[in-house]
Amino acid sequence: RKTCFRIPTGSKQWDGILNGGFQSRSINEVYGEFRCGKTQLAHTLCVMAQMPKDQGGAEGKVAYIDAEGTFRPERIIQIAERFGIDPETAVDNVTIARADNSEHQHELLTQLNENFATGEYRLLVIDSICALFRVDYMGRGELNARQQSLGLHLNRIGHMAEEFNITVFMTNQVQSDPGASALFAGADGRKPIGGHVLAHASTTRVLLRKGRGEERVAKIQDSPDCPEREATYIITTGGIND
Ligand code: ATP
Ligand code: MG
Repeated sequence: RKTCFRIPTGSKQWDGILNGGFQSRSINEVYGEFRCGKTQLAHTLCVMAQMPKDQGGAEGKVAYIDAEGTFRPERIIQIAERFGIDPETAVDNVTIARADNSEHQHELLTQLNENFATGEYRLLVIDSICALFRVDYMGRGELNARQQSLGLHLNRIGHMAEEFNITVFMTNQVQSDPGASALFAGADGRKPIGGHVLAHASTTRVLLRKGRGEERVAKIQDSPDCPEREATYIITTGGIND
């Protein structure tokens, strides 16, 4: 599809295993344990999405659904400085929506539809996709209801990605239940939450883990067009880097 584009990560090595970055018209998911850089990557992508096309960017605005309260405009400023784009403009181009609960997270999509209809947006970030659903449907007996509601949410997000030619980037947490089904197990048995519903919705899934020292490792788990390769990256003041 000729109008598809990719948003680079800030790390050349990581872009390499993704054939250039996270693709538009699809849902991209990174999952992994705490502090492996999911939120830092989300911030880096906010800047990369705005970069000029001749520098690999998508020259577009960004919508950011913050479900964990960890968005920091100061990080956008620092990352913009690394890439030589105006920090104030960079912050202004990111529309932040703080989600209070899973229902609210879903309702935010209605507002974002209007934003996307302007044609100015190229990236939707959701950090993280499941956290609020996990809180709102806590009991064992609520699992079916949770999956149903998450499924509706993801379905709508998928349609928006397609209709508006947007890259959807979502973060996800891992479940470390050794008794759980090995079906979605990544390296070391780390398994993304969200079950089949999320597995079906995500076009490309990337597992993140801590490596040696400050190093982090990204491994592609499930992609229609990229093999299961690994890349190392680091987290810097200027965002994700090699
Ligand atoms: P969680 O599952 O808790 O949400 P996460 O995967 O989102 O974790 P991040 O918040 O993206 O993790 O990454 C945290 C890491 O980023 C920490 O190791 C921290 O040291 C590093 N970090 C944060 N800000 C900076 C910065 N300005 N410069 C360098 N490293 C930073
Ligand atoms: Mg985070």
